[in-house]
Amino acid sequence: MITRFAPSPTGPLHLGHAYSAILAHDMATAAGGAFLLRIEDIDRARARPEWEALIYEDLRWLGLAWETPVMRQSDRMEAYAAALDRIWRMGLLYPCDCTRRDIAQALSAPQEGAEPAIGPDGPVYPGTCRPAPNSAVRQARPTDRALRLDMARALLSDRAAPPLGFTETGAGPGGQTGSVTFTADDLTRGVGDVVLARRDMGTSYHLSVVVDDAAQGITHVTRGRDLFAATQIHVLLQRLLGLSTPIYHHHRLIRDAAGKRLAKRDDARAIRTYREDGATPHDIRRILGL
Ligand code: GLU
Repeated sequence: MITRFAPSPTGPLHLGHAYSAILAHDMATAAGGAFLLRIEDIDRARARPEWEALIYEDLRWLGLAWETPVMRQSDRMEAYAAALDRIWRMGLLYPCDCTRRDIAQALSAPQEGAEPAIGPDGPVYPGTCRPAPNSAVRQARPTDRALRLDMARALLSDRAAPPLGFTETGAGPGGQTGSVTFTADDLTRGVGDVVLARRDMGTSYHLSVVVDDAAQGITHVTRGRDLFAATQIHVLLQRLLGLSTPIYHHHRLIRDAAGKRLAKRDDARAIRTYREDGATPHDIRRILGL
């Protein structure tokens, strides 16, 4: 069993991160497997070296040990470009220059009628920049524009043949567990043409996470339930790229006393704050019920 913890160095780790990390660590250790770390720093505007340093400090303090070297997504741009090239050559990506505002306006146009569906990345894209169904893509992949996945076209690929699904050993927000399947309709209506390369990053969370989980040989992905809906996108990308699908374990979200989800800005729940207040790693495990 190979598990991972994949934090973004954009703020201090809080109790929710500790829960995720400890769970992944303990699962791997109990099975005699390996626990890996990956720093998800593709968002260069928000990632900071001091947050990365604090991640290592907090995890060490929690008593976790991980394999080295640690993978850092900022070192992996070539691997993401190669994956994007592959999907581009399959004719499944198209450039899109729409702003959030353009999308909101298109969705509020009278002919759209029904309320737009909200997918894992927000309102389902109305398809403004999507090329006509039979248009051939010949030119080289643009690297200075956002690229969207043509979801309907991707689902016609032999690689995306049903059944689409994954094994869940935790649970989704609706209690989904065991063998979780989803349909082409779930993806076209509920997810739509997601961005796989952001203009400012040259990649995206979805693309990078799939490429890296495969590169690190992750067999069990342990993460918060808030990412359950994104897993359908990840499974589809694994199929398109010929990568195997790991087992997923989506865990409960750690909430504050008022029942609100913890956010990076909740400094009171930061592991560093607990540390400075004299708590022990054992206290953290106890608070988390681990
Ligand atoms: N980097 C993501 C985060 O900090 C986690 C990604 C994942 O576990 O798939 O929320």
